[in-house]
Amino acid sequence: MFDLRRATRLAIATLALPTVAVACGGQTDSNGESVTVYTGRHYGIEAVFDEFTEATGIEVRFTTGSDPELRERLLAEGDNTPADLVMTADAANIELASQAGLFAAVDSNTLTSAIPAELRSPDNTWFALSRRLRVIMYSTERVSEPPTSYAALGDSEWSGKLCLRPSTHPYTQSLVASLILHLGDDEALKVVESWVANDPLYINSDTDILEAIAAGDCDVALANTYYLPRLLADDPAFPVAISWPDQDSNGAHVNVSAAGVTKSAPNRAGAIRLLEWLATKGQSTFSDANFEYPADPSVAPASALSSFGDFVADLAAVRELGRLNPRAVEVLSAAGYE
Ligand code: FE
Repeated sequence: MFDLRRATRLAIATLALPTVAVACGGQTDSNGESVTVYTGRHYGIEAVFDEFTEATGIEVRFTTGSDPELRERLLAEGDNTPADLVMTADAANIELASQAGLFAAVDSNTLTSAIPAELRSPDNTWFALSRRLRVIMYSTERVSEPPTSYAALGDSEWSGKLCLRPSTHPYTQSLVASLILHLGDDEALKVVESWVANDPLYINSDTDILEAIAAGDCDVALANTYYLPRLLADDPAFPVAISWPDQDSNGAHVNVSAAGVTKSAPNRAGAIRLLEWLATKGQSTFSDANFEYPADPSVAPASALSSFGDFVADLAAVRELGRLNPRAVEVLSAAGYE
């Protein structure tokens, strides 16, 4: 019998970066084995780890922080890191961690069977676990013909009516990186400049961006898909809808939650077991906890997503977002995007 006690939270000392929140989730009746996860993704993660512990008896200890904070911490800790598995909320950041030499490749038929090639690194250092798309959101009360492309957010029609996340956020940088991949630096710059020319309201929270649409502070915006079903769960009449962008060209921008096993993992076998579980038996739990699309396309998304309909997704860009991240930062800066 498994004990469903609430996971306890224990504060333990942070090493390099005091801003990183530290928590320890887990069950006291584990078999004594534990896996330590550094995670930039925090949505409902504790329940997911509890289910893994229930299935395997392996306790999960986890530390949360932003993707870049955790990467810096891993670099500072070097071979002495307690982290076995690193999870990010952004595709560029998992690749940047891989390029920094923080991961060891995992040769696993389970993982390569479950996760499509476009959603894992070519050298098997990281694997996506869920897909989220960064799409156009619009007011259903004030907009009858929403934009249907990322470039169209720069039309003068949306001047003073556009909400965007700041340039420092990984979601913004990855979206611009995908524009660079498809359009080249010069054309991507023109698109971003056209957004800036619309005098956007910068808000550093996708939830707040959707609330701003509902409140009338803007009519159109960019946000990740899962923020909308969260709000619709509270208020089915929430007056915001998705317009899937670039459906006749490259498809809607795909970002991912992804994970890799650290180079000096104290419990490499346990980390691989957790990674494989998240990619298979845990796919629905992991994705549905945050209304995301499973990385494994054979796993059905949560029923709450069915009303959003089918869409064309830009799978081609996912593995390129890390490589293009520095250029995305340059384009954002050159465009005067705040
Ligand atoms: Fe998010």
